[in-house]
Amino acid sequence: MLVRQCNVGMVMTNCFFIINEETKEVALVDPGDQAKRLLDQCRQLGLTLKVILLTHGHFDHIMAVPALKEATGATVYASKAEDALLMDAEYNLSGAWQHRPLTVKADVLLQDGEEFTVCGTPVKMILTPGHTCGSCCYYLPEQGWLFSGDTLFLESYGRLDLPTAMPSRMASSIKDKLLVLPEETVVYPGHNDLTTIGHEKKHNPMAGWA
Ligand SMILES: [Zn+2]
Repeated sequence: MLVRQCNVGMVMTNCFFIINEETKEVALVDPGDQAKRLLDQCRQLGLTLKVILLTHGHFDHIMAVPALKEATGATVYASKAEDALLMDAEYNLSGAWQHRPLTVKADVLLQDGEEFTVCGTPVKMILTPGHTCGSCCYYLPEQGWLFSGDTLFLESYGRLDLPTAMPSRMASSIKDKLLVLPEETVVYPGHNDLTTIGHEKKHNPMAGWA
């Protein structure tokens, strides 16, 4: 398995390709915009898009989903707790911030801790409310990868002032559910640079919260 990164949309969201090099199947994490460009990349790399994993429902993580789904029939996963935000163009900010009101109906709504298989490798969904009420992360134990959306950033964390945010839950989501993962876990966040769990245990402002 390997990861490729592509930045999409007006706020340079990190969209990640999780690629099985043997089967040439790919899962996209947070295809936030520019569906045609993402499809072109899949085509150039000879990849079949099978799965879309959404860390949360904000517009800058979902805008490409309808076009990708129509073109490929990929299965869309999200947390059950995020369903209402995904289905509300006001809450997901697509109307106000992008002037392209949009809703997304996930095919599979996951529960906290639910394990499933993506492109031949196990994935565990970790529910991490805070940035939104249904934000989640995807942990790939065999690779030691965590796709953290707008929950955990390099020495930082996601905004806590947007619709459905739960500021009081962010510290426990990060400390109790993410920083307990193996220190060598590579963190692929929704914005900015990669990090590791070990680095964030030392440097994340949420790590010290009681
Ligand atoms: Zn967000």
